[in-house]
Amino acid sequence: MKPRVRFAPSPTGYVHIGSLRTALYDYLYAKGQGGTFVIRVEDTDQTRLVGDAVEGMVYALKWAGIEADEGPVADENGVIHEIGDFGPYTQSDRLDIYKPYAEQLIENGHAYHCFCTKERLDALRQEQKEQGLTPKYDGHCRNLSKEEVDQRIAAGESYVVRLKLPENRVIAFDDRVKGHIEVNTNDMDDQVLMKADGFPTYHMAVVVDDHLMEITQVIRGDEWLISTPKHVYLYEAFGWEAPEFVHLPVILSKSKKKLSKREGDVAVEDFRRKGYLPEALVNYVALVGWSPDTEEEIFDMQALIEHFSFERVSKSSGIFDLDKLNWVNNHYIRSYPIEKLTALCKPYFVEVGYCDEATFEAEFDKMCQVVEVLRERLNKLEEIKEHLALFMSDDVHPEDDEAREVLSQEHIADLLNVFVGKLEACDTLTAEDVKPMLKEIQKETGYKGKMLFMPVRVAVTGQVHGPDIAQIMGILGKDSVIRRVKFTQSQM
Ligand code: GLU
Repeated sequence: MKPRVRFAPSPTGYVHIGSLRTALYDYLYAKGQGGTFVIRVEDTDQTRLVGDAVEGMVYALKWAGIEADEGPVADENGVIHEIGDFGPYTQSDRLDIYKPYAEQLIENGHAYHCFCTKERLDALRQEQKEQGLTPKYDGHCRNLSKEEVDQRIAAGESYVVRLKLPENRVIAFDDRVKGHIEVNTNDMDDQVLMKADGFPTYHMAVVVDDHLMEITQVIRGDEWLISTPKHVYLYEAFGWEAPEFVHLPVILSKSKKKLSKREGDVAVEDFRRKGYLPEALVNYVALVGWSPDTEEEIFDMQALIEHFSFERVSKSSGIFDLDKLNWVNNHYIRSYPIEKLTALCKPYFVEVGYCDEATFEAEFDKMCQVVEVLRERLNKLEEIKEHLALFMSDDVHPEDDEAREVLSQEHIADLLNVFVGKLEACDTLTAEDVKPMLKEIQKETGYKGKMLFMPVRVAVTGQVHGPDIAQIMGILGKDSVIRRVKFTQSQM
């Protein structure tokens, strides 16, 4: 049977990097096995709803190269619609589906109505806490007679439906990553399945939907492992075959804490904004918690699909290492098609005022040259903003003592005069013209090596170190380079 896997996010307004990895492993497994990747929106917790969150989620995943075979997708205009034969794929559109299943469980003795008030439950929890016990429902309504239940419902009392777990039974299942898991029902809680407002809880909806959508593997973060025995029992109570469970180790920060907004970026959207390339983020995130069967560390989506397996997913948590991500991103920045990379840099060019949008388009070839000369220095595209200063003002000042020292040498006045003369004598200045020009200067003046190249670099850029000076001069062009050298002379 071809696998059917689902990514089941609760829309929160952004895609956490851990969710990206879950979606990715779902996707890789489905694609590797010729199966189906489903996205199901779990939005039954109405208190946590965020407008546009589904759109944002679909866009972020699409950006990363992950699109659903079934579930919400974006058309070419960015409009979200659902595709697939098992819909609707949004739980709030499925509310009518769950109630009959809850009733079935009640009839079969696997669930019961509970009329306990919030006050009673709060007091119970408080009492248990004071006694050092894990808070748990005490079964107060487990054995109400049918008559009493009917009466109280007819009287308009508010109620929830709870799972009726058998006492002292071991629930066991084999997780593909975590191995064999056993839990005694005495250590479990009679979970609420249907809330007082008629909405299903996550536990109810997830089991019903995974069954109805014929999901074969439930792949999710290991924070859900604790809930899985309840789900396993629910499958049994319904008389359904449970899917295979695959719980992925959590991603921690370098300080071994949960990856949270407080510790830095966690949203895919943040990484995108800073100029991480989707291929890099996907490549890196795949490696947090999974080790490939080769020494290779650079994988495009196709290679990930070919190599990915649950057998090489680690049982223990993975560490999110920003330096490593930067390294991977730099790799992709260096090898990306230059036009594509340059187009992605547009917002940064405009932001620092290097040019406006129209000029960016009109002089796209020049923009490509700028990106080409800078790209190897970038860990993320937004860093280009710092480097663009190099091309902006012709009033260049030596940036540090080292640069000032270069310009304080005795031969500088003479050298710069000859340099300006040469520049003025040429029609145009391209990167290719620079080397022969410097050769000529060397011949005429006798200045060579560091005595020649350093002053030229500092006079043009103010810096002792930097990208290839011939490329820079080619981009700046004749007039700008002349203005720069003359400005430098005027400051001496
Ligand atoms: N809706 C859950 C979440 O927000 C998904 C849990 C699951 O995959 O079963 O993460």
